[in-house]
Amino acid sequence: MKTNIALHGKRGTDLLHDPLLNKGTAFTAVERDALGLRGLLPAHINSQNEQLAKVLFTVRHKPTDLEKYIYLIALQERNENLFYRLVMEHIDEMMPLIYTPTVGQACQKFAHIFRRPRGLFISLLDLGHVRECLANWPYENVRMIVITDGERILGLGDLGANGMGIPVGKLSLYTACAGVHPAQCLPVMFDVGTNNRTLCDDPEYIGLHRERERSPLYDELVKEFVVAVQEKFPKACIQFEDFGNANAFRLLHEYRDRICTFNDDIQGTAGVTVAGIYSALRLTRGRIADQKFLFFGAGEAGIGIGDLIVEALKAEGVAENAARKQCWFVDSKGLVVRARTDLVAHKLRFAHEHAPVANFLGAVEALRPTMIIGVSGMPQTFDEPVVRAMARLNERPVIFALSNPTSKAECTAEQAYQWTHGRGIFASGSPFAPVTLNGVRHEPGQGNNSYIFPGVGLGVIATSAARVTDEMFFVAAKTLAKLVTEEDLAHGRIYPELKRIREVSGAIAIAVAEVAFARGLARMIRPANLQAHIRAQMYQPEYEDYV
Ligand code: NAD
Repeated sequence: MKTNIALHGKRGTDLLHDPLLNKGTAFTAVERDALGLRGLLPAHINSQNEQLAKVLFTVRHKPTDLEKYIYLIALQERNENLFYRLVMEHIDEMMPLIYTPTVGQACQKFAHIFRRPRGLFISLLDLGHVRECLANWPYENVRMIVITDGERILGLGDLGANGMGIPVGKLSLYTACAGVHPAQCLPVMFDVGTNNRTLCDDPEYIGLHRERERSPLYDELVKEFVVAVQEKFPKACIQFEDFGNANAFRLLHEYRDRICTFNDDIQGTAGVTVAGIYSALRLTRGRIADQKFLFFGAGEAGIGIGDLIVEALKAEGVAENAARKQCWFVDSKGLVVRARTDLVAHKLRFAHEHAPVANFLGAVEALRPTMIIGVSGMPQTFDEPVVRAMARLNERPVIFALSNPTSKAECTAEQAYQWTHGRGIFASGSPFAPVTLNGVRHEPGQGNNSYIFPGVGLGVIATSAARVTDEMFFVAAKTLAKLVTEEDLAHGRIYPELKRIREVSGAIAIAVAEVAFARGLARMIRPANLQAHIRAQMYQPEYEDYV
C-alpha cells in the first residue's frame, strides 16, 4: 500500500515539515514547481536509493549506539518513508538501535535527548480533559495505540515519563515488521508521577515531579482514556506496555473482555517464548507434554508464559491442573509453593504442593526441569552451578535467559554454551552474537517479542477484531515455530532469521485473522481472499508521486 495520505493542500515548508509527506531532496523538479518548493531545497535531486545509502552511511559512522538512536529518531521525525526503508532493509542492524537494547539507554537519558514530542502525553493534570488530548492528535484513522505509564521499563524499573521511548519504538516495529501504516499508530505516555527519586529531583525531567498516583484517581484516568478511545478511534486496539506488574495484571483482567486490548509483556512474551519452546523440542525431539518448566521470576513475563504453556498443553489433551503442575516458579522469596502466605493472585495458580526451597539451584536439583526460563531482571543468576546442573540433568538443556536489556540477562550465550559443552539450547531477550566453541558455531535465538506482536496487531487491525484473545497468541506461536527451517535448527537458531520478519508477521496476521473470523470477533465480512486482503494493508515505504 502506498502512503495514500492526501496532501490536504499542503505546500512549501508545511510539506517539508510533515514527516509522512516529506521526501527531502527527492522531490522532483515538477513537484518542486507545483508545490511551492522552488528555492527551499538544494538543486541536486536524489533518488530514494541515494538517500538510503547516505543515511545508512551516516548511521554507521555515529560513534555510539545512543548517537545512532538519536539520529534515527530525528530521521523518523523528518522523513518516515526513508526511515522505514532504512529499518526494513537493515532490520538486523536497526532493530537493536530503535528498540532493545538501545531504547533502554535512550529512556534513561530521555529528558536529555528529548527534542520534539512524539505521541500523546496524558497526565493526571488532564483528568476530565482526555477527550481533548485525543482530539488534538492529527490523524483520524488510529488503529494501534501503545500506552505505558513508565513504571517498569524493560528491566530498568521506574523511568516515569522518560518511558515514552518504549511506545514510540514499539510502534515503529509494528510498521517495520508488519507494515502497519505509521499514521495508524499512536504512542501514549500516561504520566501519573514516578517513584524514581533521581528523576523527580532532576530539574530537566520532562514528566510530573511527584510520586506515583496510587489512589482511585489512577483508574479513573485509565477509564477516561479507554472511553475516549472508544469514541474517537472505535476500531483501535490498545496495547498496554511496561506497566508495573500489579497494574498490568489488573488492567488486563479489567479490560480484556470489554475492549480490543492486550498486554505485550504478558501475552506477547508468552507467544514468542512458546514458539521458542516448540522449536527447541524439534532439537531435543521431545514432546511438550513431557517437559517440566522452571521459571526464575514470577511476574508479567513469567506468568504470561506459564499461562500460554498451559493452553498449549491443554491443546495436547493434558488436563488444566496437570498442565499447571508442569510449570514451577521461583521468585525473590524462593520456590512458589502452596504453603507460602505471601503470594499475590497471579502466582497462586502456579503454587504447588512442595517443601519450601530457598534458591534457584536448589529448585533445579529438587525439580529436575527440562527447561529453565529467566524472567527476573536479575543478571548472572543462571550461574555456573545452575547451568552445569541443567547439563547434568538433560542431554539438551533448554536455557532461556530472557531478561532485558543485555546487561540484565540471567547468563550470556557464551556461558550457556560453554557450561553445557555446547549441548545447551539458548535464547535471550536481547541479542547476543554467535559463539564458536571447539570449532562449532552456535547462533543464539533472540526471543524477541517483535516476532509476535506486529503480526498479531496486523491480524487484529485487518479484521477490525473486537477482542484480542489468548488463542490468537497461541496460533501466533505455532505459526512462528513452523516458519523455523531445518537450516535454522542446524545452526541452533530457534527463531527464523529477522530478515524474514515481514513474511513471519504476514503469516501470523493470517492465522490471527482466521481466529477472529472463527470466533465471531471480526467486525467485517470475510474477504474472499484473506491473504490478499492482509497483504494489501501492509505499508510500503516508497515515495508517492504527488504531481
Ligand atoms: P516483573 O517485575 O513483572 O517480574 C519480575 C519477577 O522477578 C517478579 O516475580 C520478582 O519477584 C522476580 N524477581 C525479582 N528479583 C528476584 C530475585 N532476586 N530472585 C528471584 N526472582 C526475582 O517483570 P516482567 O515484566 O516479568 O519482566 C522480567 C524480565 O523479563 C525483564 O528483565 C524484562 O526485560 C524481561 N522480558 C523479556 C522479554 C523477552 O525476552 N521477549 C519479554 C518481556 C520481559
